[in-house]
Amino acid sequence: MLPHDAGHSSQKVAEVQAESEAIFRSIGDGAIATDEFGHITRINPMAQRILGLKPKEALGQWFPRILPIMREDKTPLALIERPIVQMFLTGKSVTAKVRYILKDGSSVPVSITVSPIILNGRPVGAIEVFRDITEEQEIDRMKSEFISLASHQLRTPLSTIKTYTHMLADGYFGPLAAPQTAPLQTVITAANTMNELISVLLNIARIESGSIAISTSEYDAAQLVTDVIKQLQITADARGVRLRFIRPAAPANLCTDSLIAKEILANLISNAIKYTPTLGTVTIRVRDLQHSVRIAVHDTGIGIPRQVHDKIFAKFFRAPNAVREETVGTGLGLYVVQGLVTTLHGKIWFRSAEDAGSTFYVSLPKSSVSPGRTADL
Ligand code: ADP
Repeated sequence: MLPHDAGHSSQKVAEVQAESEAIFRSIGDGAIATDEFGHITRINPMAQRILGLKPKEALGQWFPRILPIMREDKTPLALIERPIVQMFLTGKSVTAKVRYILKDGSSVPVSITVSPIILNGRPVGAIEVFRDITEEQEIDRMKSEFISLASHQLRTPLSTIKTYTHMLADGYFGPLAAPQTAPLQTVITAANTMNELISVLLNIARIESGSIAISTSEYDAAQLVTDVIKQLQITADARGVRLRFIRPAAPANLCTDSLIAKEILANLISNAIKYTPTLGTVTIRVRDLQHSVRIAVHDTGIGIPRQVHDKIFAKFFRAPNAVREETVGTGLGLYVVQGLVTTLHGKIWFRSAEDAGSTFYVSLPKSSVSPGRTADL
């Protein structure tokens, strides 16, 4: 009986092995498995095709050696930062977008997920699954280029509309009859809204194409806040919301791009005004820390429900309570703000609960942000 049983189970083992091999080969994305030391044990046909590697070239090789990588923007990536190394260090799955450098020196952008292979509760290797995202990136680039071009083209006729409507309203072409004033004001407001939308679209195109120019100088953060408050005071007054600025005792100097910093602050303060009912207060505080300046924008408004905290910076997202209270909004402001904060190498976060107000924090580094990216802003 015994020999028969052993034969039966070894056949079973072979079947299971063949099946797992077939599953591995059929994965529609590139897949590479390694042992616990990072030596390649399997490479599926899709990975061979994307990387131009034959199994005999790859099998047994140390993964980082046979397949060098760099960042998405083609800058070098240290071995320690490599997703597979990070995965081995943390024991957790790592997702990233990088470029694999191929044998011929060219590179291919990929979206990868690398996870530990756990057997009997012990990590015995890694599996890296990846997708060639060349086409996706090209489509993204074309989309951004289109938005940028379209927005520029829209700006020109819009500025003509703005100029002439203002001239009409100011009586430059003769006095207006009383019934004409209100409709003309509506046109002016609509043109302003359109102008803001175009700015948002342009900003998105610039952020997504990584082409925001940074021009840094030394500024007092309190002065930047004061400038923005001046711009927004009329809006706050119109809504019956009090703007309060708690100045730091001494200047909070930082080396930054003032246009971008003001755009970030203007977005956060105007959100605070927009989502705070009449008689509410918006308080802005500046704190001078060792390496950064932290600006907090606190409001006594409608707050952000906890269930949607993780979505608040996503493109087009608007919380249900905001949609109920305030019909005007695109859900693009915070997405832009987050992109701008990243451009300045800063951080943004918030604390909020529904009906309990919100505080948005921005921290900007004091030292100059690295130059390098150059384009118009
Ligand atoms: P929107 O054009 O809708 O204001 P944003 O991207 O600026 O878009 O904000 C996204 C969403 O975040 C808003 O729709 C709102 O739900 C929420 N939000 C942002 N700021 C505040 C705030 N100060 N108070 C309450 N909700 C806010």
